[in-house]
Amino acid sequence: MRIAVRGGTIASLRADRSLLALALLTGGVTLAALVCLLSSPAAFVDEPTGHRPLAAVQDVRGRATKHVLVVSHAAGFGHSSIPLGTQIIQELGQKQGLWETDVAVDAAAVTQKLAGEFLKGVDLVIFNNATGELPISEEGKAAFLQWLRAGHGFVGVHAATDTFYKWGDYGKMIGGYFDGHPWHQKVTVRVEDKKFPGVQSLGDSFEITDEIYQFRDWTRDNLHVILSIDNASLDVTKGKRADNDYAVAWARMEGKGRVFYTSLGHREDVWTDPRYQEHLLGGIRWALGLARAKVKPGTRPGAAEK
Ligand SMILES: [Zn+2]
Repeated sequence: MRIAVRGGTIASLRADRSLLALALLTGGVTLAALVCLLSSPAAFVDEPTGHRPLAAVQDVRGRATKHVLVVSHAAGFGHSSIPLGTQIIQELGQKQGLWETDVAVDAAAVTQKLAGEFLKGVDLVIFNNATGELPISEEGKAAFLQWLRAGHGFVGVHAATDTFYKWGDYGKMIGGYFDGHPWHQKVTVRVEDKKFPGVQSLGDSFEITDEIYQFRDWTRDNLHVILSIDNASLDVTKGKRADNDYAVAWARMEGKGRVFYTSLGHREDVWTDPRYQEHLLGGIRWALGLARAKVKPGTRPGAAEK
């Protein structure tokens, strides 16, 4: 059963519940009706994680479906996981009944869609492994920041920090720039903010195998760290940072705009990992204004392992 992705999902969900209650009251519920109701959007609430309900539907409060633009143009390095990642973002939006997804893959689409006029209809821009200098004008860059600061959202995935090196305000907006990936291995990731949407079920830490970034022009003073590397799980001498502080995911405010970044998302098997999807979904929901979180720049871990 397909879900309506543009509006009406919550209304239909409520209608389904009313119908179920009515059917139970009148004793007229049939097996076919039950199957139909269980196939309704309510049945998707637990997906794709299989964990406890994500409460996403309740947070929508009857608002219209959101509009998400996924930008995945690789002007620099091209990740093979891009198509899968975009598909998963699209499916997460459909299954949660929260957003519909538009895409900008080639240069012309980026020029057209990452511009002021098109952005008027967009709630959230996701950079899915976009790299290099994307083809937008100086005017377009200013309009993008204005759009974001007015109260919209931006989510950067993995190589989103390997982008727009010549546009310093982009680096400030996302929180830092990619500065090499000294590690591609299984690591332990610490959950620094267990209350942030999407990480509640991960415990104090979790293990995952992915390409692990280090960053430059990055400081905790400008952002709120959600996940970071447990340095005991890798050879920290391969890293460049004097403070040995390697964050994995963070959030920050850009004016009234919400910015979420996760450096995970290089490998296909990370994208298909339900824990990653829940982490990403949490970040997207927060960036869309559908979930609350305290975003306090300058947070420190208990003690960054040296
Ligand atoms: Zn990568």
